[in-house]
Amino acid sequence: MIKQFDAVVIGAGVSGLYALYKLREAGLSARAFEAGDGVGGTWYWNRYPGARFDSESYSYQYSFSRELIEEWDWSEEFVGQPEIERYLNHVADKFDLRRDVEFSARVQSVTWDDAAQLWNLRTEDGRAARARFVLAATGFMSAHQYPDIAGRDDFAGIGVHTARWPREGIELSGKRVAVIGSGATAVQIIQTIAPEVGHLAVFQRTANWCTPLRNHAIAPAAQRDLKRRAQDVFDLCNETYAGFIHKFDPRKGSELSREARWAHYEQLHQRGGFALWLANFAEVFTDREMAAEVSEFLAAKIRARVRDPRIAEKLVPTDHLFGTKRPPGEKDYYEAFNLDHVELVDLRETPIERIVPAGIETRDDGATRLHEFDVIVYATGFRAMTGELMRIDIVGRDGLNLNDKWADGPLTNLGVQFAGFPNFFAILGPHNPAAFCNITRCVESNVDWIVGCIEHLRAGGHSTVEANAAAEQAWTQRCYDSASGFLFADVRNSWFFGYHNDGGEQGRFLVFTEGVPAYRRIFAEAAASGYAGFEFN
Ligand SMILES: Cc1cc2nc3c(=O)[nH]c(=O)nc-3n(C[C@H](O)[C@H](O)[C@H](O)COP(=O)(O)OP(=O)(O)OC[C@H]3O[C@@H](n4cnc5c(N)ncnc54)[C@H](O)[C@@H]3O)c2cc1C
Repeated sequence: MIKQFDAVVIGAGVSGLYALYKLREAGLSARAFEAGDGVGGTWYWNRYPGARFDSESYSYQYSFSRELIEEWDWSEEFVGQPEIERYLNHVADKFDLRRDVEFSARVQSVTWDDAAQLWNLRTEDGRAARARFVLAATGFMSAHQYPDIAGRDDFAGIGVHTARWPREGIELSGKRVAVIGSGATAVQIIQTIAPEVGHLAVFQRTANWCTPLRNHAIAPAAQRDLKRRAQDVFDLCNETYAGFIHKFDPRKGSELSREARWAHYEQLHQRGGFALWLANFAEVFTDREMAAEVSEFLAAKIRARVRDPRIAEKLVPTDHLFGTKRPPGEKDYYEAFNLDHVELVDLRETPIERIVPAGIETRDDGATRLHEFDVIVYATGFRAMTGELMRIDIVGRDGLNLNDKWADGPLTNLGVQFAGFPNFFAILGPHNPAAFCNITRCVESNVDWIVGCIEHLRAGGHSTVEANAAAEQAWTQRCYDSASGFLFADVRNSWFFGYHNDGGEQGRFLVFTEGVPAYRRIFAEAAASGYAGFEFN
């Protein structure tokens, strides 16, 4: 007998847990299916050394329960993965969510049955369920990817992706370790393991503009103050472009002297986190000269911290300006390259040829060079935004497959629904501001809107809601248009454009860039208008 629910949720990370809570609160029966054997999503899978927030911990936490805020202490401004995972387990326990989650249950397919007006869900291990609504809480940085390098399986040592780091850890002390990648994850792991390993080789394709995190412990008095001010923090986040505590400087930078601007950059650099990115002049996002100036400011910092000028130059990005990608947060990243046993391999000069049992072979001055390793770490990221959705066989009305519908790039209305897929909602799909967002701020408003839409449907006695095709075209176009004028629109090798290691799906802009407050306003207007752009049947 196949179990039937009002709603199924795919994934039990920050989004899936909150969706379960809200659906229950709305009186719907719900069941979540989670590929992992625990809750937490990103914070369950990414156990690599040094994994931590780049959101201020207290700004990322859920806002929906005052009691939860009161009873949870964040030990640091930017806490590490173990503490975040503990928090999400605490949430699951406190609200008794676990009883409605099926673990080790990777959803393979969801298929719409038009006659029954229900979705049929199937997991890889043969579990099944039926439900009127599907909420995909599959994450936008969850589908981890390996680089397209020959011989990966031939390696005789340990090969590990950062998003699949084993719970019991990996002994790295004194070992010869390779890290492939130089994005946010690579920066965190490199600075953390560099002092303990015997030899570390960093294989870098693209250098990134990193900003200092300036993490610190939260003292008891500050802890009490943060709890007292929690609602102010959420209110502030809801007003800012990316849902962070950082607000753009209202001054026009171009009207200040270079000295005044430079002093401002220095102050933001001292503040840490995303301050240099998101509390800077808004022109940094649109004015090439100003972005170049901040880049010059950061390049000077890199050159001052890295002893070998040749290495320093390799660590200074040359193919994009500061601000056009989400900047990794660092602590001792640049100093790691001053250690004698840390080597930087520039993949543009010496590309990887293949992986062999002993290590990695590069093409070096026309000759093959073997780098020997005990461990190869793939810090090669994710198929962002669309990855996990595209891996599920999602079949809507009239046999329409989501992969076919999106063959030429995603089409969505408000980033939450797709025409041809009734009662299917994506919590952090493409075409929402997630790429910039302090995620829990976006998750809460997205889930609230989705559950509100379901309640509207039920109150009206309807059985389905589905994005209108014309509204979907308009929203998709609006996302493309929203990028124009922003400097990041010129950086095509970014996951904002669906760029992956193998270059697949590249080309369509995937993010809504008018900002989190604009997105919330559009949501509110859609709900107030009786969900214009969505068809109820
Ligand atoms: C290392 C790292 C650090 C980050 N740091 C920050 C930060 O500081 N601030 C910030 O705002 N954001 C950060 N992010 C982004 C982060 O993804 C989000 O903050 C948040 O975790 C998204 O929550 P989610 O529940 O939507 O998705 P996820 O946390 O990705 O959870 C999705 C879940 O769905 C499950 N799933 C996927 N497909 C299936 C399937 N077919 N069947 C069953 N289960 C499935 C996965 O197993 C996973 O558990 C970070 C991301 C990474 C990778």
